[in-house]
Amino acid sequence: MPSIDALADRLSTYLGNDQVNLVRRAYFYAEQAHDGQRRRSGEAYVTHPLAVANILADMHMDHQSLMAAMLHDVIEDTGIAKEALQAQFGETVAELVDGVSKLTQMNFETKAEAQAENFQKMAMAMARDIRVILVKLADRLHNMRTLEVLSGEKRRRIAKETLEIYAPIANRLGMHNVRVEFEDLGFKAMHPMRSALIQRAVRRARGNRKEIVNKIEESLSHCLAVDGIQGDVCGRQKHLYGIYKKMRGKRRAFNEIMDVYAFRIVVDKVDTCYRVLGAVHNLYKPLPGRFKDYIAIPKANGYQSLHTTLFGMHGVPIEIQIRTREMEEMANNGIAAHWLYKSSDDEQPKGTHARARQWVKGVLEMQQRAGNSLEFIESVKIDLFPDEVYVFTPKGRIMELPKGSTAVDFAYAVHTDVGNSCIACRINRRLAPLSEPLQSGSTVEIVSAPGARPNPAWLNFVVTGKARTHIRHALKLQRRSESINLGERLLNKVLNGFDSALDRIPVERVQAMLHEYRLELIEDLLEDIGLGNRMAYVVARRLLSTEGEHLPSPEGPLAIRGTEGLVLSYAKCCTPIPGDPIVGHLSAGKGMVVHLENCRNISEIRHNPEKCIQLSWAKDVTGEFNVELRVELEHQRGLIALLASSVNAADGNIEKISMDERDGRISVVQLVVSVHDRVHLARVIKKLRALTGVIRITRMRA
Ligand code: MN
Repeated sequence: MPSIDALADRLSTYLGNDQVNLVRRAYFYAEQAHDGQRRRSGEAYVTHPLAVANILADMHMDHQSLMAAMLHDVIEDTGIAKEALQAQFGETVAELVDGVSKLTQMNFETKAEAQAENFQKMAMAMARDIRVILVKLADRLHNMRTLEVLSGEKRRRIAKETLEIYAPIANRLGMHNVRVEFEDLGFKAMHPMRSALIQRAVRRARGNRKEIVNKIEESLSHCLAVDGIQGDVCGRQKHLYGIYKKMRGKRRAFNEIMDVYAFRIVVDKVDTCYRVLGAVHNLYKPLPGRFKDYIAIPKANGYQSLHTTLFGMHGVPIEIQIRTREMEEMANNGIAAHWLYKSSDDEQPKGTHARARQWVKGVLEMQQRAGNSLEFIESVKIDLFPDEVYVFTPKGRIMELPKGSTAVDFAYAVHTDVGNSCIACRINRRLAPLSEPLQSGSTVEIVSAPGARPNPAWLNFVVTGKARTHIRHALKLQRRSESINLGERLLNKVLNGFDSALDRIPVERVQAMLHEYRLELIEDLLEDIGLGNRMAYVVARRLLSTEGEHLPSPEGPLAIRGTEGLVLSYAKCCTPIPGDPIVGHLSAGKGMVVHLENCRNISEIRHNPEKCIQLSWAKDVTGEFNVELRVELEHQRGLIALLASSVNAADGNIEKISMDERDGRISVVQLVVSVHDRVHLARVIKKLRALTGVIRITRMRA
């Protein structure tokens, strides 16, 4: 039975006394916290975290990882808060424990199998510190080793998850030993019969092959000795799940797979690897096309080795891997090899270090190789997938999005229609702003409404090209239909003045004019009018062929409904609201801008019928309109809050507020308030006036 004392002894071979004591403290804390809880096997619960810490001690992990291992189930199982751990053991350890807990809470089982790879990435993206993953892998490894006590169904679920998620993660991190153990234990739990069958067959085959294996091994060793090369030759065994996968995936017979003899030669340095290669190629003929130099070009997970296949005696194929001791460590332990090597201070393990980093670089695209281990840990703390976020749809599908993506990007990634009709979102079931950047692991739900339309403001925060393109496209279509609409109203208004209407003009007449203007559709003409590119007055006269024969009867103003959309805007200089006397200024390409009738900016063109048009407010005008108010009042405490609550009390909304102190006594506050109309504004002003100390309220206009 492993004990904390035994572990502490082992730790003291590579950790300082203070650090070992911290690990002890974490152990006793966990023992207290899990007091009374038992594992399924009947043992005290704390034996599990202790075993997890032991696995990490095998990898020579640092004291913080070991402490996190001791505490890894405390948040999840005993309800102790992260803050409490932080107070006891510091922020880093608390963060590690929190990270492991979050991974534990992730529910992989209900999701589709095809998503497994995304889950791996998501798990890694969620863990900001690589040590979170290493603690989690150790946790899972111990659970896999003690799987038998669980019921069949639970056992299979955990095994499946291990094969689909955790074994590939171990593989990504180059942790071959852990991966192989995951796979063989998982295989055994999922398919006990097949696993036992293959195991028996392997044992039998090994017995039969023993003689041949020994012969090859001898001749390889002899060949090295002749060239004066130091190196260890050993036979390699394929693991059960590997054999099974080959049999299934490549549809090969068991004998075919076992007929390959595999050896590894481990030497001191890189030079020697190539000398060994020369020597063995001299001994047996190499199989053409099978030589691979993973030393010069390492695999993405940092794996390095020379691979070659030889024709042995009687033509038996011999697979050979040649590598240095450091590469061997790296191949077996991957990223964890870094910690394993950290302790040997006499011989700086630069090579391993660099390869550990290389892995990190490959996957993380990180910049420089680290000088010391502290820097290394710092650098692996950043996101493992710095450019992506992974989020769930409400149905559990995973979407991969670029970093910084918002709910709007998500909506468009799901479907264009979802994007176009989205009005709000829930992130982890809570309403959130559409502009909020998404975090990995969140569940995002889009609230959409039929007939809703994209908002031009979305273009300020979306990051995906898809969202941007579709928003632009939708806005363009929207703008066209709105321009056509406004254009038709403008044209009809003038035609009405001539006692006519668009639908009373003969079709041939309209066609002739379109031809003259080189336009295809009547809609194109109306759009032009709506956008302010063509004058309704001019078009109307040409349609009626009335060259100045008679003046139109006085035309009434065009009514503004507030639903004209993108082709109608309200001037920023004078901020008109319903009830104000207004005119419209048609500016080419932009559509119509509504000004106050007495706005100084349009005083020169107000009576030019080609540029300005009389407007009125429709009875049922809708919308929110901003006005700017200037309030002078005596300075007092909590003045902003007072103003805000008065505006609120009148159902107004403050959009912007800023304050100037005139002198010690008088303050001047500028408010931008949104209201429905003049009546509403009057109500807001009345409320403000009722405040004590208010001297003057002015509505600002250019
Ligand atoms: Mn656990």
